Amino acid sequence: MRDINFLTETNAKPIWHPMAHPAEMRANPPKVIMKGEGVMVTDIAGNTVLDAVGGLWNVNLGYSCDPIKKAIADQLGALPYYSGFRGTSTGPSIELAYELCEWFEPEGMVRTFFTSGGSDSVETALRLARQYWKIRGQADRTKFIALKKGYHGTHFGGASVNGNANFRRNYEPLLPGVFHIPAPWTFRNPFDETDPVRLAKLCARALEDEIAFQGGDTIAAFIMEPVLGAGGVIVPHESFMPQVREICDRHEILLIADEVVTGFGRTGAWSGSRLSGVKPDFMTIAKAITSGYFPLGATLIGAKVADVFEADKTSFGAIGHGYTYSGHPVGCAAGLAALAETKRLRLNENAAARGVELAAVLEGLKAKHAIVGDVRYKGLMAALELVSDRATKKPADKKTMALVSEAAYEAGVMLRVSGNAIILSPPLIVSAADVARIGEALDAGLSKV
Ligand code: PLP
Repeated sequence: MRDINFLTETNAKPIWHPMAHPAEMRANPPKVIMKGEGVMVTDIAGNTVLDAVGGLWNVNLGYSCDPIKKAIADQLGALPYYSGFRGTSTGPSIELAYELCEWFEPEGMVRTFFTSGGSDSVETALRLARQYWKIRGQADRTKFIALKKGYHGTHFGGASVNGNANFRRNYEPLLPGVFHIPAPWTFRNPFDETDPVRLAKLCARALEDEIAFQGGDTIAAFIMEPVLGAGGVIVPHESFMPQVREICDRHEILLIADEVVTGFGRTGAWSGSRLSGVKPDFMTIAKAITSGYFPLGATLIGAKVADVFEADKTSFGAIGHGYTYSGHPVGCAAGLAALAETKRLRLNENAAARGVELAAVLEGLKAKHAIVGDVRYKGLMAALELVSDRATKKPADKKTMALVSEAAYEAGVMLRVSGNAIILSPPLIVSAADVARIGEALDAGLSKV
């Protein structure tokens, strides 16, 4: 690799960064991360900070997980790539598909379709949902319903079900036949309802209304994150997803749980669906599947859908969909090692215990700093929503958000800013001391404004 001077000088010039304005990145280049160890990362200037972002919600096992590194190295030595398309397969992909079905058996998952990441997994679920209805002779069922504020990646299908204008406007027109209902977000919702149980009912009723308006027999699937992540960690009341499941069942609509963030223990449960005992028809997973060590994702398929495809006698059953890297053997070897470590360390239990501590820290910060309008958390996914005025809930501006995160960085903790929210998703191996340190750095950041 070229030297540090070259990297510093060239930073943000030849590269366009996702989710950023190219000119803004040139003017204010991003931090260049050079090293990771445990839950810490070191930037090009030699600053070592606690990574309260966990890479991008994905590095659940931290940066020093030797079993994953070894599995990757061993698999590279044995077979760096072979295709999983019709006609060939590889050992690690067979084994990981088997393990995932076993691991997510409580959610009713019986088959695995591998992808290269979360957006691919969502795209796969949307496409297979439409295909399911073609096989069943109901070709009119093509529409999708989703939650406002939901995030489902950036392919055209995923962007279409996305519920945030920032990820939609510049790319419209998107997929036709996609509709959104309000998310059960107590801090901001069109019903001015702050009680989570009542709000869950109102949002479920909004789903019923939309289905009635569209015609239930035109809807292929409803998609939701069990806990909304990128939208600012919106935690629906545990009664919401079971109501959604019941409504979907009554109208025979498929339910896609987007578990790209919530899979593998981040909420304190092994999946977000498991938090409320819901069995979706598809689960989309990625991110922590390899703890971020290799790009990989999967769409898991429930028995009802699998049975229809596997019993198909029509011309619609063959899957005309897949990725060159579906079932990449190195990714799957990384996935097997990550899953084994995740189970061995019972990361869900640590996420739940540290999550309780983090929640107390955040409530303390809200009590202390008027700029904190709302705090939201579930396990080790959390957000602080900053406002310039608590009464009007006016979002804090960009400059304030940057000030807080820079001050926290100087205090030794990397945060992520998304709109007027600070998002926290540290590795699930964090200790109680790490949580305290995150709180101190947040306090230092918030004290600056
Ligand atoms: N779905 C959810 C819930 C996500 O949070 C993300 C990414 O953050 C995606 C899908 C897209 O995943 P990827 O960025 O791996 O394509």
